[in-house]
Amino acid sequence: MKNPLKKTNVFLNKYRVGSPKGFRLADFPPDDSLKFIQKKDEDQLIQSLQEKLAVLQALLYAEHKHKVLIVLQGMDTAGKDGVIKHVFQGINPQGVRVAAFKVPTPEEADHDYLWRVHQKTPAKGEIVIFNRSHYEDVLVTRVHHLAPDKLIEKRYGQIHHFEKMLTEEGAIILKFFLHISFEEQARRLRARLDNPEKNWKFNSADLQERKFWPAYVQAYEKAISATATAWAPWYIVPSDQPKQRNFFVSLAVTAALDQLNMRYPAPEQNLKNIKIV
Ligand code: AMP
Ligand code: MG
Repeated sequence: MKNPLKKTNVFLNKYRVGSPKGFRLADFPPDDSLKFIQKKDEDQLIQSLQEKLAVLQALLYAEHKHKVLIVLQGMDTAGKDGVIKHVFQGINPQGVRVAAFKVPTPEEADHDYLWRVHQKTPAKGEIVIFNRSHYEDVLVTRVHHLAPDKLIEKRYGQIHHFEKMLTEEGAIILKFFLHISFEEQARRLRARLDNPEKNWKFNSADLQERKFWPAYVQAYEKAISATATAWAPWYIVPSDQPKQRNFFVSLAVTAALDQLNMRYPAPEQNLKNIKIV
């Protein structure tokens, strides 16, 4: 396929949460064949997307105008690390940053929940990937009642306004829910036990969290419904198959950057007359 972005919109729209009312994760497949791609073209297509993304990122950096925020959320083992490793390989590390959000440190916990997040948002020309995000404060916090319900309830509106402000100040926001099935999570946890090279990733706390799967589904449905907007859309990424997942995120990010119609900054006048001695 010559232009990988050609049929993109039709395809991406299928997974974009456009009408948050009545949004249910169960309506989205965690495993979906990419019908417009033939298996034999898959690798080549992924590679051409990576190349295109590298060119767009160079432009973004040079133009120094837009800021790009990519939010990755998903159940444990959903593939957040895999997306970071595969989708963004080959682009200039100078313009890209990853911010991972773990259990808040005592200092972070003493501040409001957006304090640590806001500091990590992208500057002009930058792409920042959030490995988990402010959404944890309406997800794990909700599931485990880590804050009073009344306080959590207010956060949906606060996040909505926070993201709106960021976009009004020049940010492009793309939010990805990496959607895996309960069964696929079991397979991945087992692989972490069985494969010596993956043992280090095994965290028995993940087994505890797995018991809260239905509560997480509910919390995600509520969070996504409340914060899916035209300016900061959520994509429900079919993620049972890593290749499909990476392809999807690559495509969405590349398409969003492509739409910015970026230009290299105008050069100084009369470059042709300059002599280097
Ligand atoms: P991982 O991403 O596997 O390194 O795990 C990070 C852990 O930090 C996950 O269990 C998250 O749920 C947890 N975490 C991230 N942000 C918060 C938060 N704001 N409050 C409580 N736990 C959090
Ligand atoms: Mg983990």
